[in-house]
Amino acid sequence: MNKKIIVASLLCATLLNANSHGAKLIEVTHLKHQTVKKVTTKHTSHWGYTGHEAPQNWAELNPKYKMCGMGVNQSPIDIKNSVSVQSSGLETIGFNYHADASAVINNGHTIQVNVDSHSSINIDGEHFSLKQFHFHTPSENEINGRSFPLEAHFVHSTAEGKLAVVGVLFELGEPNKALQTIWDAMPKEANKQKRISLSAKNIETLLPSKRDYYYFNGSLTTPPCTEGVKWMVLKNYQTISKEQVTQFEKVLGHSNNRPTQPINARRVLK
Ligand SMILES: [Zn+2]
Repeated sequence: MNKKIIVASLLCATLLNANSHGAKLIEVTHLKHQTVKKVTTKHTSHWGYTGHEAPQNWAELNPKYKMCGMGVNQSPIDIKNSVSVQSSGLETIGFNYHADASAVINNGHTIQVNVDSHSSINIDGEHFSLKQFHFHTPSENEINGRSFPLEAHFVHSTAEGKLAVVGVLFELGEPNKALQTIWDAMPKEANKQKRISLSAKNIETLLPSKRDYYYFNGSLTTPPCTEGVKWMVLKNYQTISKEQVTQFEKVLGHSNNRPTQPINARRVLK
């Protein structure tokens, strides 16, 4: 086992920032049926969701995080139909999810599933590869002031590093089977990685079958809050049971949603 494997992408959509947020495997423990890997993140500065490291202080924690305070196109947002949403005949997102996932990581900020190559989406003729997806509780984006118990972010990038995130909102209801497969495998401790066997089909069942969406320009929702991210929040919701929400909250030990940010001059398209 190569202990120096760099673990891809530990933070929200900061997968392209491997220098500041890269991580190394430093310890590998073999359990009965699974391998648990310990990972250490090399933060330039610690950030989090509570106390001094909470979102309202991110911009002050490191000069590199200044966009968290200065940005005018920040994510997440409250998608308010009455104020900013314009109908524009958006094109359908072309989902080509063909790759399986083999690793689930608890990085202390979220639970993230890394996806093998060869899954992608097409938006307006542009090709974005799926890198990873991860979860926030409660949701980061809101719809007309409504918060949801869970939001999944599917993070995609072009070869040049342009980012596109698809957000899926989960409302309370029936237990979600695809989520449960991930919940059963997610490491209980921060900075640990486990193997998971998740097929492309399983991954796709996390998305609602109807995929109309809201579109807006935004940012990473975690430091360094880089802007220029294409956001597509699906209008149809998936379900999660109360027990599944509790299970996720217990593992993280805290909420992991950045509060909604001002829309400013932006328009949300639908
Ligand atoms: Zn996210």
